[in-house]
Amino acid sequence: MKKFLAPDITADSAPYWQALKRHVLQLQQCAACAGFRFPPLPSCPKCGALGGQWVETSLHGRLCSWTEIFHPLDPRLKDEVPFVLVLVDLDAGPRVSARLVGADPQALRIGMRVTARFDDLDDELTILNFEPAAADALDAPPSTTTTTRRPA
Ligand SMILES: [Zn+2]
Repeated sequence: MKKFLAPDITADSAPYWQALKRHVLQLQQCAACAGFRFPPLPSCPKCGALGGQWVETSLHGRLCSWTEIFHPLDPRLKDEVPFVLVLVDLDAGPRVSARLVGADPQALRIGMRVTARFDDLDDELTILNFEPAAADALDAPPSTTTTTRRPA
């Protein structure tokens, strides 16, 4: 058993994971409507067209939502809590989930700019995480959202 939780890599998702290993963010783009999609699927959820192409996309996005994890639901996570799980609306369109690294959970706000980072878990697996975008870290506008609540 690996020391970390590994994803199920399928024929549809293999190109995504192979790109992450090269520290590149690639998403499927529909050949018919040009929409990007995530997670990888054999057909476009917007127009139904089969297939598509893998396209390198921007590493940037906006924070849509987050939660701070305090309780390790899997024993392999016991040394990693607390950590922040986020939903990010990528500039390319799709919403992805990942961890946010290097941010004070109390300083998070919906809409803040984040940048993808590539974390190598071992020689075979690289995962997508996010960190605050450099410009946001230097000049953060007033918070317009709720703050996370720690468990009692
Ligand atoms: Zn489409």
